[in-house]
Amino acid sequence: MDLQACQQDVDAWIKDHGGYWDEFVTLARMSEELGEVSAALQRLRGFRPRKVDVDLGGEVGDLLFVLCSFANQQGLSLDACFTQVMAKITARDSQAWKDKQA
Ligand SMILES: [Mg+2]
Repeated sequence: MDLQACQQDVDAWIKDHGGYWDEFVTLARMSEELGEVSAALQRLRGFRPRKVDVDLGGEVGDLLFVLCSFANQQGLSLDACFTQVMAKITARDSQAWKDKQA
C-alpha cells in the first residue's frame, strides 16, 4: 500500500467516524503517539520495566494513522513529502551519513 492509499483509507475512516479533530488536537495526538513509540522501544531495549506486552509495530501504526490524518487536514501528499525529503537528504546528507557509519 502506498502512502496516497494510506491517506485515502484514513480519510474515509475518519469521515465515517465523525470527522477530523481540530488540527492542533491532531498534532498533539501525533506527539503522544511518538512518545508511545519511544516508550515501546525503551521497554524492548530494557530501559523501562516491561509491565505490559510491547507492540512496537502497533505503535508505529498508530503514529502513521495520525500522520496521515494530519497530512490530510493540511492538504499534504505524503508521497510528495517523501519524494521531497529523499531528494533533500540525498543532496545534503549522503556523504555525512556515510562518514558517520565509518
Ligand atoms: Mg499508540
